[in-house]
Amino acid sequence: MKLADPETYLESLRSMRRKVFALGERVENTVDHPLIRPSVNALAETFNLGEEPEAEELLFATSHITGKKISRFTHIHQSADDLVKKVLMQRMLGRRTSTCFQRCVGMDGLNALYSVTFECDQAHGTDYHRRLKEYIRYVQEENLVVDGAMTDVKGDRSLRPGEQSDPDMFVHVVERTGEGIVVRGAKAHQTGALNSHEILVMPTVGMREDERDFAVSFAIPCDTPGITFVLGRQPSDTRKLENSPLDVGNPTYGSQEALVIFEDILVPWERVFMCGEVDQSGKVVERFAAYHRQSYGGCKVGVGDVLVGAAVLAARYQGVDRASHVREKITEMVHLNETLFCCGIACSAQGYPMPAGNYMVDVLLANICKHNVTRFPFEISRLLQDIAGGLVVTMPSEKDLLNPELAPYLDKYLKGKEGIPTGDRLKIMKFIENMTMGCGAAAYLTESVHGAGSPQAQRIVIYRMAELEKKAELAKRLARIDEAPIDQ
Ligand code: SF4
Ligand code: FE
Repeated sequence: MKLADPETYLESLRSMRRKVFALGERVENTVDHPLIRPSVNALAETFNLGEEPEAEELLFATSHITGKKISRFTHIHQSADDLVKKVLMQRMLGRRTSTCFQRCVGMDGLNALYSVTFECDQAHGTDYHRRLKEYIRYVQEENLVVDGAMTDVKGDRSLRPGEQSDPDMFVHVVERTGEGIVVRGAKAHQTGALNSHEILVMPTVGMREDERDFAVSFAIPCDTPGITFVLGRQPSDTRKLENSPLDVGNPTYGSQEALVIFEDILVPWERVFMCGEVDQSGKVVERFAAYHRQSYGGCKVGVGDVLVGAAVLAARYQGVDRASHVREKITEMVHLNETLFCCGIACSAQGYPMPAGNYMVDVLLANICKHNVTRFPFEISRLLQDIAGGLVVTMPSEKDLLNPELAPYLDKYLKGKEGIPTGDRLKIMKFIENMTMGCGAAAYLTESVHGAGSPQAQRIVIYRMAELEKKAELAKRLARIDEAPIDQ
């Protein structure tokens, strides 16, 4: 693995020449930009062995291609145990950062494409699986960060990709040449796009026969000419520009989403993994979604652990930690969080091998997992705000606290329990603000609703996979419905 630690990872990003915009201005050095740096730090944790005794086992795996030690973020799962370890790794990193560490989407994309390219080659005589394996080998050896790019901008949602007045609403092939394909379009909400080396593009929906140009998957380096990145805003993000870490709440770590625009990019054939095989496109979407819905049963649980800890501290610092209703609320937070974990582990433990040899999660359980994630973090956040109290949104700024004229008053009047420094109480309040309505909420709440697919997408899969007729048969048999009618 060439990129072996956080520092070499940061250096590799600094050396990339990309077209990046933030707040309307070109940014040459994204790594050291104060708005972006916390998200870089969060991703860099995936390169950091850390202090947890289990970290080595979770962060690394053995490549089934080369037999070498690799980052689990570049691994193709070889067993149900691999799937479980993936969730445990995500919970560990969620605990470290209390945010989205951005590297799972590429991992989930590679795993989805691994089985689909194999099946596509069998159905169509294509050469995609070999190409993808070569690409995975390269990503593993270099230890690259891959942005998995699925979500198109979509335009008019009532229209299919092929029906849009502007075909660029979905990434599509505009030309096929001897060298490769030329593609155009944009991908929205791209997690960690500015912190990635590569972009792995996948179709966003299953395509129809007349939508062959939209059934496309490929990988390109992020510094390919013709790509433009526009950083997405987050609530209270400019507090990061104020040099007031207290007001940021979680000043070290953050998440990141960007709009990525492709303007007639030439992709060499060797990096094309689907081009026109419409019957394979829906499988990529469903498998990627299932892997990423599994992921949320790890990462969001790790963040939930931190929030439970924040509730404990807020209660203690304000002298209410022994109140029975506070204990009840903390118990409820733990119950909700561990339920999400149960779902993440269950869909992994029930994983099964695909024809390509890699392991797939239980799709129904992965969707149940993510569907719970669309709800429980909101209830966990509500309980946390309930315990913390109104100071979360009414406390003065760090600059007030540093003002010599104000400082003695604020220290005196914002104090909680005797023996607890006022500053400690205020730090946890600002952290709670960040996590439940500031930048942190972008990753913990909004991403929990829409990341890996909005709630309705899971409900469609749940209904389809529920085997309702089989269940009806169970009830029929026990109620003796097929036996003699009751009036005879
Ligand atoms: Fe990973 Fe979670 Fe972020 Fe997705 S939301 S990239 S699973 S940390
Ligand atoms: Fe996500």
